[in-house]
Amino acid sequence: MMKKRLFIISNRLPLTIETTDNNVTMRQSSGGLISAITTYLKGSGKEFFSEKIWAGVPGCTEKIWDIANNEHSPADYNYLPVFMKSKMYELYYNGFSNSLLWPLFHYFPSFAEYHSSYFDAYMEANRSFADILSKQVRNEDFVWIHDYHLLPLAGMLREKFPKLTIGFFLHIPFPSYEIFRVIPKQWQREILTGMLGADLIGFHTVDYSSHFLSCVEMALKTGHDGQHISWENRQIKVDAFPISIDFDLFNNAYDNTKVEAIRKTYLKLKKDKKLLFSVDRLDYTKGLYNRLKGFKKFLLANPEYHGKVVFALVVVPSRDSIRKYAERKKIIDEFIGNLNSTLGTINWQPIIYQYNHLDFEQLIALYTTCDVALITPLRDGMNLVSKEFVASRKDKQGVLILSEMAGAARELTEALLINPNDTDEIAEMIKQGFEMEKKEQEERITAMQERISRYDVNAWAGDFLSQLKEVKDVQLGFE
Ligand code: UDP
Repeated sequence: MMKKRLFIISNRLPLTIETTDNNVTMRQSSGGLISAITTYLKGSGKEFFSEKIWAGVPGCTEKIWDIANNEHSPADYNYLPVFMKSKMYELYYNGFSNSLLWPLFHYFPSFAEYHSSYFDAYMEANRSFADILSKQVRNEDFVWIHDYHLLPLAGMLREKFPKLTIGFFLHIPFPSYEIFRVIPKQWQREILTGMLGADLIGFHTVDYSSHFLSCVEMALKTGHDGQHISWENRQIKVDAFPISIDFDLFNNAYDNTKVEAIRKTYLKLKKDKKLLFSVDRLDYTKGLYNRLKGFKKFLLANPEYHGKVVFALVVVPSRDSIRKYAERKKIIDEFIGNLNSTLGTINWQPIIYQYNHLDFEQLIALYTTCDVALITPLRDGMNLVSKEFVASRKDKQGVLILSEMAGAARELTEALLINPNDTDEIAEMIKQGFEMEKKEQEERITAMQERISRYDVNAWAGDFLSQLKEVKDVQLGFE
C-alpha cells in the first residue's frame, strides 16, 4: 500500500483525561474498538501509512486539552480533538445514540426513545466532526469512521470530498428491516444515505450486512448484487469483517508473572470448588438477569452442587446516567441478594459479585482460573470477552458457554451454544460444562484458538483497509 495519511474517527478519542487541583493526566482508555485499532496502529499498520490521526471527542474543555496534549503527546498517532457543547453532546450521545440507536439495533424496540431534539443534535454533532475534519483531510487520504454514533458522517464528508477514500465500520448489530423501519422515514434516509457516503461498509457478520442491504433496498429503493451498491456514481462494497483480538497478547498473558500470582491466590480461594465466571458492562443487552435465573435453576435442579460451586460475576458500570441502565443495577443487586440469602449458607456464598472494572491481569487470572465462562447476551454485535477467554486458555482447558445471539457465535462454534432466553438450557449447559471431560475441553478450545489466531485483530484491520483500497482503485479505474 502506498504511504498515505490515515484518519481514524470514533466518538471518543482513545484516552481519559483526569484533572486534580494542579495536575492534568492523560491515560489510554480501554474497550474493544480502542484496543483493536491501537493494536493495529502499533503493529502491522505501522508501516502502511505516513501519518495516523485519530479524531474524536476528548472529554474535556479546550483549555484542559491544551495542557494535557502538550504534556503527553502520543507516540503512534496524533490526536484531532472535536469539541462540542455539553448540552449537544448529551442529546447526541445519551439521547439519539444510546437511547434510540443502541436499543433499536440490539432488538429492544420498546426501549427506543424518539425525540426530534435527539435527532437534530445527532446530525449537528456529526456536522461538527465533518467541519473539523474538512479543515484537515485531503482527497488522497484514507478515512476510517467507526460505529453508530457517526452513521451520517461519511455522507457529510463525501459532499466536500468527492474523491476521498472513506471506510465505515459498525461495531454493533445492524437490525433487520422490520426493526429499522420503525425509525421515522426522514431519519432512516439520513442514516442510510450518510452511510452510503463510504466506499466500503463493514459489519461483524454476514447477517448484519445482508440486513443493511435489504434496508437500503426497501427504504431507498436502490438495488444491489448481494455485495455492491451503485450510488451517486460510485460502486460501494458491503462486507463482513468479524472484529477480533490480539491473540498473542491474551495467549502469552497466561505466563505473565503478575497473572500467575493472582491466579495462585484465586486457586487457593477456589480450592476444589467449580468456578463459573462472567464479566460484562451493566447493559440490558448482556442478558445478566436471564443468566442469574439460569444459575438459580441449575442450583435448584442440582443440590449435589451446593457448596461446591461459586459464580464470580463481574459487572462493569456503564452509561449509568441513562435511566434504563440505572434501573438494571437495582434488579441485579436484588436478585443476587435474594439468591445468596436463600440458597447460601454461613459457609457458602453462591455468587461473588463485583461491580467495578478489572485490570488486565485480574481479568486474565479470572479467565484462566475458572472452569466455565458463561456469556449470555440477548444481542451482541460481536462479544470480545468470549474470544479473549478462549485465547487466554494456554492450558487448553475451560468451557465456554456462549449465546447464539452474539456475533462471536458464528466463529466460536465449538462453544456450548445457548439461547439466552431459555433459562432451562442455561442451567443444563452449566452442568454439562462442569462435567465435560478434559479431552473434550482441549479439543474444543484448540479448534476455537486456531480460528481466532488465524483472523486476529491485525488481520481484521489489514483486511478492511486493503479491501477499502481495492474498492477505491476499482472506482477510480472506471472514471
Ligand atoms: N474489559 C476490561 N475490564 C473489565 C471488563 C472488560 O478491560 O473490567 C474489556 C474486555 O477485555 C473487552 C471489552 O472490555 O475487551 C468488552 O468488549 P465486549 O465486546 O465483550 O463488550 P462491549 O462492552 O464492547 O459491549
